[in-house]
Amino acid sequence: MNIKSLIRNEVIELQGYRPEVQRSGIKLDANESPYPFPVKLNDKSLEINRYPDPEAKALKEALSKLLKVEPENILQGNGSDELIYYLISVTGGPVLYPVPTFSMYGIIARVLGEKTLVISLDRDFDIPMESFLRSINKDRPRIIFLSSPNNPTGNCFSEERILRIVKESNCLVVVDEAYQPYAENGEGFIPYTKRYKNLLVMRTFSKIGLAGIRLGFLVGESRVLDQINKARLPYNVNSLTQSIALEALKNRSFFKDTIKRVLSERKRLTEALSRIEGITVFPSRANFILFRVRNGGAVYRRLLKKGIIIKNLTSLIPDCLRVTVGRPEENNAFLRALKEVL
Ligand code: PMP
Repeated sequence: MNIKSLIRNEVIELQGYRPEVQRSGIKLDANESPYPFPVKLNDKSLEINRYPDPEAKALKEALSKLLKVEPENILQGNGSDELIYYLISVTGGPVLYPVPTFSMYGIIARVLGEKTLVISLDRDFDIPMESFLRSINKDRPRIIFLSSPNNPTGNCFSEERILRIVKESNCLVVVDEAYQPYAENGEGFIPYTKRYKNLLVMRTFSKIGLAGIRLGFLVGESRVLDQINKARLPYNVNSLTQSIALEALKNRSFFKDTIKRVLSERKRLTEALSRIEGITVFPSRANFILFRVRNGGAVYRRLLKKGIIIKNLTSLIPDCLRVTVGRPEENNAFLRALKEVL
């Protein structure tokens, strides 16, 4: 059997998402929070023999109070990854996004056989407006993804540029706010979804201590979400996830506290890295830091040998590596190992 003859060409040519395979060691590669939300499963109403609530009603109500939107302005996903799938499957391509950015926009677009329009960020890692607007007018994308704060560069795009794109395009614009809890920018873009019907904001529970439960959501115009909802698998968010997320939403102080700790470590780590000769640090508004170091690939491999797992981005941005902000002792171990390697 010739397997290749069974599979679409776009998929055969695609390099899928590659999470770090090594998990033992000090894990600073996947932008998780180092502080797990302490899960207590004592939900008496959890009937595990039944399917989960397909509409995740209780969860949406709790979220809607927190975000000051109506429950019908929220759509739940099995992680935001799944929502990207739904979004592109209902809009179709071309799919426009700046690079470097989160790789799943491109991977999912290609798996779905859709065209991608890729524009390089400017020198400050912001959106290059001229070429972006030209592409919007000429190539007519049907959906645009803007990760702000952007993974892997760590900066937020300028608010004014994002809004101009929202206003001047007739397509869906998704502002992916996976790292918004670390951006220190108030409520982010959610308030704008009331004014701009083509704007969707995507958030996730993954970066604040709950990556394991797989929960993301979209906020936006209900008539748009109703259409995306047609692509959603009926029971995409399982009962345990719904229950744990509800519990989490009742424990806001845990998240306030752990986010504060990460922010303080981000500052310390940024300063420590910038004091090391030969390293260029890019300021971050997320829970990770991008830095450039000579022979980045070799540095990454040597750190891995010492049990320090970070993200190798050298194929995307020359000599660049990305480290997730961990607990103080993990960050110290990383700094120590990095100094030894250099
Ligand atoms: N968006 C961005 C910008 C990300 O960096 C990530 C995770 N790496 C995701 C979305 C996916 O998050 P989730 O765990 O909710 O699927």
